[in-house]
Amino acid sequence: MIDLEVAHTLPVIGNRDIIFNLQAMENEGAELYILLALNDITERKNADKLSLMAKSVEQNMELLNNLYLNSPAFVCTLLGPKHIFDLVNPAYQKLFGERKLTGKPILAALPELKAQGFNELLDTVYEKGEVYVATEQLAWVAYDEGLPPAERYFNFSYQPMHDAHKKISGVLCFGYEVTKEVLAKKKGEADLRLILNSLPQLTFTASSKGTIHFFNKSALDYGAMTIEAATTGNGWETIIYPDELPSVITLAEKCLKTGEDFYKEIRLKRGSDNSYRWHLMRATRIENGSGDGLIAWVGMGTDIHEQKISEQRKDEFINIASHEMKTPLAATKGYLQLLEMSLEPGTEPAYFVAKALASTNRLNHLINELLELGKTQNGDLKYNICVFDFDKMLTDTIEDLQKASPDYEIVKKGKVDAEIKGDKERLQQVLINLLGNAIKYSPDKKKIEATVKEKDGSLIFSVKDQGIGISKENLDHIFKRYFRVENQAMQFQGMGIGLFISNEFIKRHGGRMWVESKPGKGSTFYFSIPLL
Ligand code: ADP
Repeated sequence: MIDLEVAHTLPVIGNRDIIFNLQAMENEGAELYILLALNDITERKNADKLSLMAKSVEQNMELLNNLYLNSPAFVCTLLGPKHIFDLVNPAYQKLFGERKLTGKPILAALPELKAQGFNELLDTVYEKGEVYVATEQLAWVAYDEGLPPAERYFNFSYQPMHDAHKKISGVLCFGYEVTKEVLAKKKGEADLRLILNSLPQLTFTASSKGTIHFFNKSALDYGAMTIEAATTGNGWETIIYPDELPSVITLAEKCLKTGEDFYKEIRLKRGSDNSYRWHLMRATRIENGSGDGLIAWVGMGTDIHEQKISEQRKDEFINIASHEMKTPLAATKGYLQLLEMSLEPGTEPAYFVAKALASTNRLNHLINELLELGKTQNGDLKYNICVFDFDKMLTDTIEDLQKASPDYEIVKKGKVDAEIKGDKERLQQVLINLLGNAIKYSPDKKKIEATVKEKDGSLIFSVKDQGIGISKENLDHIFKRYFRVENQAMQFQGMGIGLFISNEFIKRHGGRMWVESKPGKGSTFYFSIPLL
């Protein structure tokens, strides 16, 4: 006898679960009987499914309930347009001590919240169905029955809840109290403001995005401003000399982007007499360690007006004096050259005249440097731009300097094949200045390396010496006008303007200058300029 049983789900009407049972039998007469039994088990299966679903819902409800009861965050639901407390988890209840909440409208349970905008916010969420999220929101609310309202801060959200018909039925409130953190932060700020207010410098603090939110007393007194006027919009801009404002904004934007210090001399209007006085403004990024952005920038302005005016007078005097000296010096040089021609070479008078001519040349060089400085200051410097072979110019310059300083060994390294576009004479002046300094400030070590190379579309030139070097604190000032390292000023001749002028020339060629140095080990001065 063949006994066959097969169970299968038949997709009959409505996709019912059917077990069909098939039996094949053979009797002695070799007749074959097939027995088919169908059993509809759809209801049984559905009941199983439902029970499984019910179990899972039950488990989820338990999970939610646990979460809601034990959550460190506060949770409550407020029903209907009056915002009546319905579910209030223990964390929420703890915010208000023994005060009775459940079953009461929010303003009846916590009447001190009236006129603080919370009821209106709930109205909006309830009416419009939009989620509201607040950070460090201040609420004057009492800790318990009979206590006065206290300054408290909350991070929370209000979310609309919907009934079975998708109608808004209430608002779910979820959040944390952050009073301790906010008050600690405020205290830190208040302490800092107290310190900043005692400083004589004009001081401000700004957010990481550059929004100024505090000026110290000195700044407000100087500008005769109120803190509201200075911090509303860009009120502080009114005290900056109008012509300087665009460059201040450009530099500030750059510093905000790169995080570099802001450093600029600016004229600021004194409120008492509306006069503009020069200030050196510096602003530095501050990390407060906790990463909550307590302060992002601190800026300070120091009055440098007298210093600046005397510097301007000095510049004016130097400019006039060097102009006045140029003509008589040219005449002296001319007469000396005539005298040199009329004298027998090798005689004592010829030797004296040669010495006088060398000194005149040196004086002429100094006067030219001073005149260039004046022109740089006034923006009168005219550049004569042409395309030329930098490598050849460097080789020629080294050759000339080598002849004039036979004790030194000047080695040229590298080569640049590309031509460059620039003011040949001024760039040669930069080479002479850097190589001349390397010689001057290396009295004992006689080897100097001049390297030229191409990198990322720029020409990079460097001069390396093994001389006296420069200390770290002086490196920051090395390209400033008239700057000379103090303890060497008497030992080496100079005026402290060569590097300043060189740096100006390089900047005007779209490049930059920098230096690496160690005292006693030597210095390497670099510049880069874009190639064609
Ligand atoms: P000057 O040499 O006429 O004083 P510069 O502007 O060329 O003026 O240089 C400014 C100052 O920088 C110098 O007075 C010197 O103190 C320092 N300095 C420049 N070049 C070097 C160098 N190669 N090694 C050490 N100090 C240097």
